[in-house]
Amino acid sequence: SKELGRNSFQLYKASMNARSLERLSMLSRFQSALEGGEFELHYQPLRCLTSGRIMSVECLLRWQDPNLGTISPAQFIPLAEELGLIVKVDQWVINEACRQMAQWLKEGLDIRRIAINISASHLSQGDLVMTMAKALEQHNLDGRYVELELTETSFVSNLHDAKVLLKKLKNLGVSIALDDFGTGYSALSYLTKLPIDILKIDASFIAKIPDEYGNSEIVTAIVAMAKALNLHVVAEGVEKSVQQKFLQKLGCHTMQGYHYCRPLPQSDWLNFYRSQRGL
Ligand code: C2E
Ligand code: CA
Ligand code: CA
Ligand code: CA
Repeated sequence: SKELGRNSFQLYKASMNARSLERLSMLSRFQSALEGGEFELHYQPLRCLTSGRIMSVECLLRWQDPNLGTISPAQFIPLAEELGLIVKVDQWVINEACRQMAQWLKEGLDIRRIAINISASHLSQGDLVMTMAKALEQHNLDGRYVELELTETSFVSNLHDAKVLLKKLKNLGVSIALDDFGTGYSALSYLTKLPIDILKIDASFIAKIPDEYGNSEIVTAIVAMAKALNLHVVAEGVEKSVQQKFLQKLGCHTMQGYHYCRPLPQSDWLNFYRSQRGL
């Protein structure tokens, strides 16, 4: 009826207003969080499954709101994407990660790379190559100490553009990891068409080891394929020793997950590193 239509329109209008208000306040909240030091990086080590040594460390963004406490990136990254702020967030992370890695190297830390997550929507909105180049230069860091983690969503829209972009990044010396592998829908052929170095098997596959029917076979096949393509293969979300053993037997190169170490704030991570090295 007419009445119903009008009511639902009023409702729609009200929720629109609430939404735009929310957007506005989120925008200013983000801005002040970036400027006011409410963002920080936590670090999770990746462990070599043959030597047992720490290979690299992934930085994971944390937002410490003075009132709300820690806000998870799963909550605020999609919001930052929607508000058009993801490039700013990623730029902050890239800069902070390069600064941190340069400092660790000065202090004698023996790790190969720091891994940085890049949002898929970054690629259409910002100049990732320029941001990366600037950060490396500013912190006097060799690009070989950096790994960028991208998801296949970043590549699907235009394979040719993706190839050009990845080549430019590789010219800076950085490595490219394909994050959350196995969760997307694109053809596997892009694995041979793009200059990818590292494949990270999504945690959802690892979580189902050893119980779920067919799952171990899928993981076995992914590891075999990655190795045949000369890709470095990482298992994410390893929580149990049975999973670590299974991956070791497959010849998976690297593991990451709570079983070895949770993401830690900088000082805790350094303590963990030193204890692992017997320092
Ligand atoms: P991701 O890149 O796939 O990161 C792995 C997530 O799994 C992290 O969640 C990590 O804390 C968590 N994790 C690690 N080991 C285990 C485990 O054994 N079990 C379980 N259940 N979880 C584990 P987190 O830190 O909440 O980050 C969520 C997602 O937010 C990330 O997924 C990434 O897509 C995004 N993200 C995080 N930091 C950044 C960033 O600096 N920039 C961008 N653009 N995205 C980020
Ligand atoms: Ca990641
Ligand atoms: Ca992942
Ligand atoms: Ca992810």
